[in-house]
Amino acid sequence: MKPLIGITIGYQEGNATMLAQRDCYGKGIIMAGGNPILLPPQGDPEETASLIAGLLLSGGPDPDPQHFHEQPRPGMGRVDWRRDCHELALIRAMRSRKKPIFGICRGLQMINIAYGGTLFQDIEKEKGNAVSHFQNGDFDYESHWVRITPGSLLDQLYQRETLAANSFHHQAVKFLGKELHIAAVAADGIIEAIEGENGVFAVQWHPEHLLHIPAHFLLFQHFIKTCSERKTAL
Ligand code: MN
Repeated sequence: MKPLIGITIGYQEGNATMLAQRDCYGKGIIMAGGNPILLPPQGDPEETASLIAGLLLSGGPDPDPQHFHEQPRPGMGRVDWRRDCHELALIRAMRSRKKPIFGICRGLQMINIAYGGTLFQDIEKEKGNAVSHFQNGDFDYESHWVRITPGSLLDQLYQRETLAANSFHHQAVKFLGKELHIAAVAADGIIEAIEGENGVFAVQWHPEHLLHIPAHFLLFQHFIKTCSERKTAL
């Protein structure tokens, strides 16, 4: 059996009764040998975590800053509160079962919050950035490079110092959550990848739009390999 991978989805902007997700996340999981299943912000996260071999936290709207004890400030984008709460519960449930989690963009931010970290609600307003992190180009265009942290999982995977990435985010990690490590940063110091124990890792860019580039597809392959190994070990 292929490892069953839950992919989180949320409510569509402007229509709180419509669930939506781009299909490239599932394509990446299938190409890497997994079996994707979509997880709406409904149901029982503990039972779902028992069922799946791995959790893919997808991109989406801004996490509510109340989850890290801040009020929303100017520059904050749209929030999907129900999705936030469901994803935080899923992360906790997966973490207690020591199951792998792969976070993409908002997914990285949700992992950071779940581990006690905080976010810049808007990079430009709160930090001022030397690199544009919301690129003006197609999804598969790699607009800025990231520097990989020596000794990190990404370093082991790539064995190179830098990687070109796409960038569609206006928020980023401010304070890193406990038991997380920085795996890559952009030229302006913005955290672009993080990792933790038990196969938890996340990137701020969108590898699901770069599946045709081996270096980015490698993240999906690594995730499915980790899920398969842990599934067999359980
Ligand atoms: Mn970026």
